[in-house]
Amino acid sequence: MAVLPVLTWGDPRLKKNSEDVGDWTPELEQLVADMFETALDEEGVGLAAPQIGRNINLAVIDCSCGEDPAQRLVLINPEITREEGSQVGPEGCLSIPGIREVLERPQKVTIRNRAQDGSWHELTGEDLMARAFCHEIDHLRGRLFVEYFGPVKRQFLQKKYLKQARG
Ligand SMILES: [Zn+2]
Repeated sequence: MAVLPVLTWGDPRLKKNSEDVGDWTPELEQLVADMFETALDEEGVGLAAPQIGRNINLAVIDCSCGEDPAQRLVLINPEITREEGSQVGPEGCLSIPGIREVLERPQKVTIRNRAQDGSWHELTGEDLMARAFCHEIDHLRGRLFVEYFGPVKRQFLQKKYLKQARG
């Protein structure tokens, strides 16, 4: 397993729409293992393929941050089918290190997701899992969480982020 370099805010590859994953291959299985390793190394809950420069509809989520292998979830060509309620809480992104901001998300989210064996399943997540579904699927559509804020706040966050990135 390897820790992969993560693209950061401002990289045009993070703004691209991703393509559906085709047949599952050993190369993709390796990529998923590396993505879990990378998310864990960065202490992140999830990581989407565009963040490591692959514009395909693939993401990993581990709400236990490496504590419980049973909680590892691979999203393949996922689509949100239902959203319910709302939650307000802090959100961060491995592509925007050092920035955490409060963002409203649905409290409960249901997705349609493909498994590695090609079968399709409905998955429902609440709270942190619901937030992770929204955040990672946004990445696959070329959207970062800071884009939910207005231009003034976004500019403020960008300055703060760049200042931190320079050290
Ligand atoms: Zn992110």
